[in-house]
Formats: sequence, C-alpha cells, structure tokens
Amino acid sequence: MTVTALLERLVAFPSVAGGSNDEIAGFVAEYLAERGVQAELVPGPDGRVGVVARSGPGEGGVLLSAHMDVVGVEGQPWTTDPWTLRASGDRLVGRGATDMKGFLACAMEAVIRAAGARRGRPLLLAASTDEEIGCRGVGDLLPRVLELRPSHCIVGEPTGLRLVTAHKGKDTWRATLRGEARHSSEAPLADNAVEHAAELVLALRDRGRELEAAGRRDERFGIPHSTISVGPIHGGTAVNVVPDLCTVEFEVRTIPGDEPAAALLPPTGDAELEQLATYPGLDGDPAAFVGLIDAPAGPAIDFGTEAGVYAAAGIPTAVCGPGDIADAHRADESIALDELARCEQLLERLLGRLSSA
Ligand SMILES: [Zn+2]
Repeated sequence: MTVTALLERLVAFPSVAGGSNDEIAGFVAEYLAERGVQAELVPGPDGRVGVVARSGPGEGGVLLSAHMDVVGVEGQPWTTDPWTLRASGDRLVGRGATDMKGFLACAMEAVIRAAGARRGRPLLLAASTDEEIGCRGVGDLLPRVLELRPSHCIVGEPTGLRLVTAHKGKDTWRATLRGEARHSSEAPLADNAVEHAAELVLALRDRGRELEAAGRRDERFGIPHSTISVGPIHGGTAVNVVPDLCTVEFEVRTIPGDEPAAALLPPTGDAELEQLATYPGLDGDPAAFVGLIDAPAGPAIDFGTEAGVYAAAGIPTAVCGPGDIADAHRADESIALDELARCEQLLERLLGRLSSA
C-alpha cells in the first residue's frame, strides 16, 4: 500500500486520546503481521493497547516511535469530515495527518520493507496511545521495548524532518482545595474553597514570573526558562452557596537541567495535589545520530514528546518527523505530500544503513 493509502486508513479511526484504542491498535498490528513483520499488541493496565513491532535480522537496531492517538475535533471549524483524508492541492487534510499518523504510516511501510533484509540490524516500531494527554501510554510499552535493546530511537513528531535533541519536560497536577459549605448570607462564617483556589492561582502566577525573571535559562529554547500555566478551574455549585470544593489543574514545563518540577512549585498550603501526568525533558547529543539519520539539526522545541521518556530509559533519542507543529491540533490539520515523500526517503536511507551495518 502507498503511504497515502495507509494514512487514509489510519485517519479513518477516530482515535481521540483518552478513549478506547483497540481498533486502531488491532489494525496496526494485523497490517504489519500480514506483511511479514513480528508485531504484538501490548495491553496496559488502563485498557490502553500499544503495538511493538520488529523486523529484519540481528539484534538491537533502531526504534521508530509514533503515537496512534490524536486530539479531538469538537468545537473546531473543520470544512469536511476530519476522519476522511482528502487531498487539497499538494497537501493531505485530516485529523492526525501531521500529528502524527503521517509519520506512523511512513514508519509502518519502512518496517515492512525491513522485513526483506537478509543481513544487518533490525528496524523496530513502537506505537503508543494517550500521548496527547501527557505521554501516558508510552510507559506501558517501555518494558517490552527495552527487552529488544534498540541502539537509537527516533520519535517522529513534526519537526520538518530536522533532527531535534532537546525539548522541555512537563508535569501536570490537579489541586483540590476544601472549605466548608454554608448559606452565602453567612459568608463571613464560612470557609470558601474558591478563595483558597484563587490564592493558589496567584501563587502559581507569581512563581511563573520569578522563573522568567530569575530562573535557570537555556537559550536554545524559544522561551528560554521553565514555565507554569494554570488550566481548568472548577468550584462551587450556586451563587447562594459558599463553595466547599474547588479544583485547579496546572502544569510546569521545565528546561533540561532545571530542578524537578515539584521543587519549582510555590508553597501550596492545604491543597491536596494529585499528579496527572509527567514526562522528562530531552537533552541528547546530535553526534549520536551522525551516519545514521541524514537530517539537518533543528532547534530545541518547546513542546514535549515521548523522546524524553525513551532517553531517560537510556536509549539515545532524537525527534525527527515530517510536518510542522503549527499544523497540528487545529481544524483542517494537513501535511504536505512532499514532506511525506521526504520522510520515506529518510527512512529508506536509514534502512540502507541498517542492512549494511
Ligand atoms: Zn504528537
């Protein structure tokens, strides 16, 4: 199948992060297995399913990493059905075209071609899910991947096919603030959970400003310091009831080498903190990929990927994939046909090196 035809099949699965993903995982594993690749489903404890595949002779080899999940489409002004891939000029439009089913399609076809190699080293593929909600699925795959002992890992997130070896880490929390409910006419006697939340939000904002003014810096990044951002806040049930509960979700993004995210938080008082997601930053060595991946070096990226997780597990890892992150997560997400063709060529050259290694 051509990469475009395979991408059309992948886009047709509405594999929104957080939902069940057995259908797309089953398709990926079966498609590979039918074409001579050793592919296995790796179920995780929360009902998620990943896929790990391996083809070609020998031990070790290079791991290609992709995620099968995508962000949702609700509220976005798509001009056509997001789950039906369509051509528009020299681009293909559909949810996941750039982030990152386009790379997944290229990687699947490359792993199939590697199955025909008679000597050298293997090509591996790890396809995860729930990447879009904080790299939650990759941990389920990691033990199986480590058993296969890849020498390198390429995470195919969109970098315009430049080789990126640095990105920030991210930690996400939900804080729960408690008070005491009472009729609002008795507000001075009550304990208002939303007011506690407001104090926490301001403390987080102030700490974010301190990180900008006086925190550690890494000028490779567009925003060269660690950051804090407050997201959804939920509290209260009616204006005439003093709220007894409020939750605040927030994240910390850390530059490589900074303190752990938890150490960057301001005092959080009585807030009960629950960590929702965490993944480490990436600070790799581009020299590890010389002679393996023909791609120009790219800048450090502010968005996170599974690369930090693989690197922390001891595998030299870079991010290099087709497309532009600016095209991801938006209505009418698209990828240039030329980017997909260049990605196929890059993987073809990688295959040539593996089979002569
Ligand atoms: Zn992605």
